Amino acid sequence: MTNLDILKEKYFFMPDATRGAVRYLTTKQLEETGTEAIVTNTLHLLIHPGPDVIQQLGGIKKMMGWKGIVFTDSGGFQLFSLLHSKKWKGKVSENGATFKSPKEGNTYELTPESSIDIQMKIGSDVLVTLDDCRDTGLSRADAEKSVERTLKWAVRCKERFNNEYGGTKKTGKLLTCVVQGSNYLDLRAYCAKELSKIGFDGYNFGGYVIDKDGELVVDEMSAVIENVPKDTIRYAMGVGKPEDIVKASKIGYNLFDTVLVTRNARHGTLYTSQGVVRIKNSEMALDQAPVDRECNCECCRNYTRAYLHHMLKNGEATALTLLTIHNLTFYQTLIKGLTLL
Ligand SMILES: [Zn+2]
Repeated sequence: MTNLDILKEKYFFMPDATRGAVRYLTTKQLEETGTEAIVTNTLHLLIHPGPDVIQQLGGIKKMMGWKGIVFTDSGGFQLFSLLHSKKWKGKVSENGATFKSPKEGNTYELTPESSIDIQMKIGSDVLVTLDDCRDTGLSRADAEKSVERTLKWAVRCKERFNNEYGGTKKTGKLLTCVVQGSNYLDLRAYCAKELSKIGFDGYNFGGYVIDKDGELVVDEMSAVIENVPKDTIRYAMGVGKPEDIVKASKIGYNLFDTVLVTRNARHGTLYTSQGVVRIKNSEMALDQAPVDRECNCECCRNYTRAYLHHMLKNGEATALTLLTIHNLTFYQTLIKGLTLL
């Protein structure tokens, strides 16, 4: 048992600290929202400042002054979507991917082994295996290929984690995997079963969680949950809207993240106990109520909708901080409510 086993027993919502920071928040402000775990982006941190720099600085937690839990992604989801959409140049092979970062022009290689090495250098608590993530609407043949490659890479990641670093026993860290299979329920179930045989601390729903109509892919998500062990992390990656988190929790998922919570805050779209409030709307200009009367965050305790409306309209960075604090507090309160169910 490591202290991270709590991740298998409770509901968690992780804001995205993509480059080792949640935009507009200090680490203390982040803690005050009730956040206990964050997820960082391996691909971005690989490019800047680079895993060696992070390691020399004592790891991401020391850099951030963060005492909570840190997840890393494998870098795969973002990289493969950038490569498949041809936004970045590179090549995917049986061994992983080579690619060029458009900004710096440097060439990188991401393999199952290097993905684990990078995540170890970043100093995350919970690592994710590299998976072969594809676009939506895959043909059956391509979905099968993606599953087979994902399984092979999962084995290689686990071997690297165990042989090079001594696994969970020596590191105290957890290793989770990603279940692929696109929209084919039998492939989702097969991938989940095969990964369960290999054995991981967590099973993450990979690929796209929302269909073309914006609906949660409930059947695919259920096919995965029905075929993984219960006492594990069950991470619905990229979920999502508050109502989708509630839906996914009922299926059996216990861990969530989405960029929506912070991104929407910055655009003035706020989640409240009375539904969505758009702070930029003209009727907010004279509204002296807090964003949400039910909320006890720094933003709602001290400021009116009218003041926030004024600040946001004028591009004041303080508004971005306060609105992010509110949205994140709303999500953490929602999650704590699920714990009681
Ligand atoms: Zn609030």
